[in-house]
Amino acid sequence: MSFCFKPLGRPKSIDKTDWKNWKWQLKQLKNSFQEEKKTLFLAGTTPYYLRLIHRFKESNLHQIVKPTKYENLPGLQSFKDPLGEEKYSSTPNLIHRYPDRVLFLITDTCGVYCRFCTRKRYTGKQKAFVSKINYKMSLDYIKKNEGIREVILSGGDPLTLSNSLLEKILKDLRVIRHVEIIRIASRMPVVCPMRFTPQLIKILQKYNPVFLMLHFNHPDEITKEVADTLKFIADSGILMFNQTVILNGINNHPAILQALLRRLLYLRVKPYYLFQCDPSEGSDHFRTSIKDSIEIQKELWGRLSGLSLPNLSLDIPEGGGKAVVVPNYLEKIEGNNWTYKGWDGVVNTYKNPRNQSIKKPKNKSFYKKEWFKIKKQKYGRSRNLDSI
Ligand code: SF4
Repeated sequence: MSFCFKPLGRPKSIDKTDWKNWKWQLKQLKNSFQEEKKTLFLAGTTPYYLRLIHRFKESNLHQIVKPTKYENLPGLQSFKDPLGEEKYSSTPNLIHRYPDRVLFLITDTCGVYCRFCTRKRYTGKQKAFVSKINYKMSLDYIKKNEGIREVILSGGDPLTLSNSLLEKILKDLRVIRHVEIIRIASRMPVVCPMRFTPQLIKILQKYNPVFLMLHFNHPDEITKEVADTLKFIADSGILMFNQTVILNGINNHPAILQALLRRLLYLRVKPYYLFQCDPSEGSDHFRTSIKDSIEIQKELWGRLSGLSLPNLSLDIPEGGGKAVVVPNYLEKIEGNNWTYKGWDGVVNTYKNPRNQSIKKPKNKSFYKKEWFKIKKQKYGRSRNLDSI
């Protein structure tokens, strides 16, 4: 084994059965920062993650969870709803921005309230599960819109819900024939690895393809407990992807990110996105410049395998969707000749074949019908854009 993952263990004062019980971990969450009086949104995390941030003080992981005076300062750019999700809400809990997928906010509860969260307007309002009427409305909307092929369960963290509730949601979605993929966005493997009991894994397997979209930001978040959990999930056939937010003074260095990406890949979690931090209220001190992120990406490119490289992206403020950010390797275009300078400084030209020599495949009629159906689907469901 190439990497050594250190066990976090448990405080002697806490009973082993309690520590290993994910429900107990979540119950303690509200007591994490009793001393904080007025915070922008709920503060707290599990005893497990609290122990981790104390263990790795130098990694500055405490900044992720502990409120500071900086979040009350006016930001250079600051939005209640930085992704403009409300504009794209088809029901109070369903965001339909892209034609083929919806984001279903099924709970506002998390295992950690990240101070940079993009959805502070929604998370931690202690309403727990979406109301019955909104749940039904959202399900009906998905049923009616046959172009929806993917449902992303999010919130909040769907894995804070009980197994029975989670199974009901998965079952309700699986009976809708046009739903191909279900994704579950979760930070629970990071802050509460004990959540992944054999019972939960069985449920996820039953409704496969279910993809887990994880959210690790730092290599110190991968303890032995986490590594064992990720192995358990991967062995059970559940695919995992990771999204990382670039955080000022916490992970915005190629040394930190390469360590995170390589360890994740080794544990069979595909690094998927590397996000520029969104300008949500109280997040200014976490944000870095796009230039800084491109420099980091440039350092990683060529030195790390493509498998471990995530897409560097940002969400265009107030609802423009994702924009991929890539270092510019193109030096010049002269007619059909495109010249590039590689990550290692080598410059060379790719000569494009002339247009007339490009032939399209003949035998495509079978897939053409499928493709036209996809293309016909309206782009996004913004109420404002509908009138354009
Ligand atoms: S776990 Fe996700 S949804 Fe919850 S506070 Fe953190 S970033 Fe926001």
